[in-house]
Amino acid sequence: MKINNFMEVTFKAISINEGFARICVAGFCLQLNPTIDEVNDIKTAVSEAVTNCVVHAYPKHNGMVTMRCEIEGEMVKITVKDSGIGIKDISKAREPFYTTRPSEERSGMGFAVMESFMDKINVENNDDGGLKVTLYKRIIKNQAQVRNA
Ligand code: ATP
Ligand code: MG
Repeated sequence: MKINNFMEVTFKAISINEGFARICVAGFCLQLNPTIDEVNDIKTAVSEAVTNCVVHAYPKHNGMVTMRCEIEGEMVKITVKDSGIGIKDISKAREPFYTTRPSEERSGMGFAVMESFMDKINVENNDDGGLKVTLYKRIIKNQAQVRNA
């Protein structure tokens, strides 16, 4: 049977919630019976997106992050959204090694990591401010059973 499902959570943009977001999205994706590698890829990409909200989105005040995960058939679509400062030049920000915080030991690899662990990513500023990152991954059906057979 084709699964169509979604969940949405909103949490404070603080680093303790990076782990929560990873576990939360991983738990939700289990209904697709993913391999451990597939779950780890999703957790890694989500971690980078949420960490960016924590580190960059709100330089002056505390804000929130909304994470939504949609499943349609074998496709997982995850959006990570904040209401912070957004990004002026998105294509520049997506270049490997580009960071606005080199002094804090940031390597500028977050978007590159998201891109390499997911099938596709989309980055855009919200109309009302803040950033929206969308991550896509196809979970190949029954791959876990085939591999374990
Ligand atoms: P790393 O992820 O390797 O620790 P980084 O976070 O600087 O370093 P990226 O994740 O690739 O690298 O992000 C590149 C740049 O894009 C950041 O330095 C920051 O300027 C900007 N950026 C990313 N996410 C956001 C966001 N949610 N709000 C505002 N600016 C952001
Ligand atoms: Mg980052």
